Order: sequence, then C-alpha cells, then structure tokens
Amino acid sequence: MDNFNTFLLQSMLYAAMLTLHNLYHSSFQTKLDLANQLFLQHGQILLSLPLVRANIAVLEQQAQRLQHHMSALNVAPLCATCAGKPGGGCCSLYMADENDAVLFLINLLAGVPVAIQKDDDFECYLLGSLGCTLRFKPMFCLNYNCLSIRNHPDTARYSSYLALSGQLLQSQWQLETIILAKLMKTG
Ligand code: SF4
Repeated sequence: MDNFNTFLLQSMLYAAMLTLHNLYHSSFQTKLDLANQLFLQHGQILLSLPLVRANIAVLEQQAQRLQHHMSALNVAPLCATCAGKPGGGCCSLYMADENDAVLFLINLLAGVPVAIQKDDDFECYLLGSLGCTLRFKPMFCLNYNCLSIRNHPDTARYSSYLALSGQLLQSQWQLETIILAKLMKTG
C-alpha cells in the first residue's frame, strides 16, 4: 500500500474511533492515542480559534492560582508521607482511568506533553517523580482530598482552595464542550 492509501486508511480508522465512548470510556492507551491523533490533525485549527485560546488562558491562570493555594496549604509533605507508605498515595492506577481523551488534548494544546511515566501495575501512569505530569487533571483527581487535607487547620484557605478547584473544573468542562462541538462538526 502506498503512503497516500496508508494515510487514507489511518484517517478512516481514526474517524471511526472518534466516538464519545472512545473519547471518554475506552482504555487509557486508546484515549492517549486518540488525543495525540486529534492534536496532530486538529491542533493548529483549534489553536487558531480565539475562543479556544481565551479559554486556555483562563485555565492557565486558574491552575496557577490553585497551585499557589496548594503550596500555601503545604500539603506536599502529607502527600509525600502517604506515597512513602506501603500501599502508596492516592494517585493509584485505578485513578488513571478518570482521564479522557479531550482532557489529554487540552493539556497538549497548552503545550503539556502527555506521556506514560510508569507502568508498574500500581500507580497512575501519569505520576512522575515530581507528582502529576498533567497541568489539567480529571475531576476526581481535582476533587479528591483525603481526611488529613480536609482537616487542615487553615479552614479559610482550605475553603478558597475548594472554590478554586471548582472554578477550574467548570472552566475545563466548558473548554471540553467547545472542543467537542468543533470536533463533531469537522469529524
Ligand atoms: S492527579 Fe495525575 S497522577 Fe494523580 S491520579 Fe490524577 S492523573 Fe494520575
């Protein structure tokens, strides 16, 4: 088969895979492959849309503010303590499936490489040596706070941290909806 026909066949296969089920509920690897394909085929077009760029800029600001609040809450030592115990921290392999292809695509559009960091049958594929390698994380990851964090003595800061995660999640979902609408239109 020549290069053109191979490309045609790959595009047809990819178009057939572009279903909501595959984007959201397929295997981790399929979602990752789909996101990379989407980025290759539609990344430039999506980034040329002012609405997409504006939403990414909002996400960046919100994620930065959230990160700042997290540092101020000083939860890193708590997480490190758990990660060092048998059974590990909360970034388990089970959680990796909370990711979806559109969220991966949003990370890619923001210039964040999305790649498997480890495959140890135990921890999330995306957990790097410095923590999560995504800038925009799935809902469950953003929402989950263990008892030690929930009992943080600085209740005011903890409350604003929760509010900021909620805002970021809402913005992520808004951008997912915009991207989905665009993808479904272009096919
Ligand atoms: S926060 Fe990141 S590394 Fe942890 S479970 Fe979620 S996606 Fe995986």
